[in-house]
Amino acid sequence: MFPEYDVIVVGAGHAGCEAAAAAATMGSKVLMVTMNMNTIAQMSCNPAMGGVAKGQIVREIDALGGMSGIVADKSMIQFRMLNRSKGPAMWSPRTQNDRMKFSEEWRLVLEQTPNLDFWQEMVKEILVEDGRAVGVRTSLGLEIRGKSVVLTNGTFLNGKIHIGEKNFGGGRTAEKAATGLTEQLVSLGFESGRMKTGTPPRVDGRSLNYAKMEEQPGDEDPGKFSYTDTKPLTKQVSCWITYTNDTVHKELQKGFEKSPMFQGRIKGLGPRYCPSIEDKINRFAERDRHQIFVEPEGWNTVEIYVNGFSTSLPEDVQYKALTKIEGFENVKMFRPGYAIEYDFFPPTQLGLSLETHLVQNLYFAGQINGTTGYEEAACQGLMAGINAHQKVHGKDPFILKRSDAYIGVLIDDLVSKGTQEPYRMFTSRAEYRILLRQDNADIRLTELGHAIGLAGQDRFEKVVAKKEAVELLTKELNKLKVEPADINEGLETLQTSAVKEKVAAGHLLKRPQIGITDLKRINSSLETLLNKYATEVQEQAEINIKYDSYIEREEQLVQKLGNLENYRIKTDFDYDRVKALSSEAREKLKRIKPETVGQASRISGVSPADVSVLTIYMGK
Ligand code: FAD
Repeated sequence: MFPEYDVIVVGAGHAGCEAAAAAATMGSKVLMVTMNMNTIAQMSCNPAMGGVAKGQIVREIDALGGMSGIVADKSMIQFRMLNRSKGPAMWSPRTQNDRMKFSEEWRLVLEQTPNLDFWQEMVKEILVEDGRAVGVRTSLGLEIRGKSVVLTNGTFLNGKIHIGEKNFGGGRTAEKAATGLTEQLVSLGFESGRMKTGTPPRVDGRSLNYAKMEEQPGDEDPGKFSYTDTKPLTKQVSCWITYTNDTVHKELQKGFEKSPMFQGRIKGLGPRYCPSIEDKINRFAERDRHQIFVEPEGWNTVEIYVNGFSTSLPEDVQYKALTKIEGFENVKMFRPGYAIEYDFFPPTQLGLSLETHLVQNLYFAGQINGTTGYEEAACQGLMAGINAHQKVHGKDPFILKRSDAYIGVLIDDLVSKGTQEPYRMFTSRAEYRILLRQDNADIRLTELGHAIGLAGQDRFEKVVAKKEAVELLTKELNKLKVEPADINEGLETLQTSAVKEKVAAGHLLKRPQIGITDLKRINSSLETLLNKYATEVQEQAEINIKYDSYIEREEQLVQKLGNLENYRIKTDFDYDRVKALSSEAREKLKRIKPETVGQASRISGVSPADVSVLTIYMGK
């Protein structure tokens, strides 16, 4: 009934979709097996993509030739560039999305991808022969052969949903849990753990009083994620802001004795930085209110996502507390919030390609690795799909370094350090933030994506042209001298001190108050020059000039530390031979199997002295 596939992807969440699309686009024969084809690319929690650090990841996925950016653009209902008042390293695109359209667009993408087949069923077991994954066995007992398997099971493995004192098996609301796989993987020698996450109630938008809330519209000049020709929005939907208050907190506290979290029924560790509302009022008792974002779920639905009110308290307590929020007095609840516990596999069991150490040609991606978030899942899926394809075609693994991309930071963190709680990306996790910006992801990554056969020729040509244009404009701005009188007159309205002598136009951009579009007001030749270039080229040239000393400093740092990243360690390296290593370092190195000395240096318990020993041992 089935041919032998190159790559079998288990799961159709954000990780599974990217994995399947990438491997198939690169030419692998791919099968996506998922428990429910109606929930492909389901947004389990908030109807939004991107945000701080996550927006950078979506841009990187897009630059490499992944699809999350395109799908997010096609389904967005609002766009905002967060942190615009800060430096460009902090700018983070975020979209509010139509939940149903997001899922529909992903399914369209997958159905239009050649080499990609689908099968709806639960995978119960991985077929393993001679230490290598060779396919999957399903709940109907079907054996499907594949040269590699990518597991992207999300929150489904032995998932258990909690609402107050009630709990039941489930992978997500109204969906079955996946059973059998954890037990088999553990019997093969894998270590598993338990985590938890939660989601807020959804309510009827018609029952809310928006007059009592603050409006949060989208950007006036909205952007988008994809570097391709997706269209920015011409019409947007607003979100709204309101707050909890003391009465809301008191209502919630009434349910604490039935809380699965406080009563110890939930054992898994939850995301500290994305706490439930009961956790917030417990931990931050001094705060008399917490912000609530009222987020529409789409163009054509009245359903509202109550961001900031994640809870697993009993449904009647949730409802009562909601009615005490400003603007929610007459609220009608559609679905209660809930918490979910699920199995994950500590990611130190993986290599940088996301292949498991224990079973060859078996890859793990997404929430199964202890991460949380669509973007974190999607980028791992993309990398696992690429690497499964590379492996079965006898090609080198595709690894991004920490200095290449947030994706590189995320995977290196996971496989080198593991994670004790659901891992999400923050800008603070990246040491080369000024290099890893959302505006230059295409310049950093598209050529790499093209070289492996993922990013198409059109993307490649576009980025080459952009790079050339940016270089040319930067050069011209640094060359073109302007008269002080023109500058002072043209920039009169800006609060910047008067210029006394002729300077290069580029030099003016070093002043924080002056942006590239301001230069057009200085004289007509500057206006003509700038009008020749696209906005994204102007923006890039501006950043290059304004922040060149910071960029240069980070580039030097990458070069200096880069040597360690280039000292490769074979996976079968015998650490017992290196007597001078501390015993803790030896034990960690044997378990985590770092692929470079750089990666070894980031493992906790491996000291700078151990790194020197390794470097000397390798004759470097
Ligand atoms: P998922 O999106 O969970 O997809 C898993 C897929 O695998 C599904 O298609 C499922 O049908 C399929 N599957 C599973 N097992 C099998 C099997 N054995 N055989 C066949 N198919 C299988 N993220 C945040 O960033 N912030 C939050 O506040 C947040 N809250 C959340 C609250 C809840 C209740 C849930 C469920 C998730 C929440 N998340 C949150 C996490 C976010 O949804 C996930 O990080 C993201 O969806 C993970 O993507 P994934 O592809 O790894 O898995």
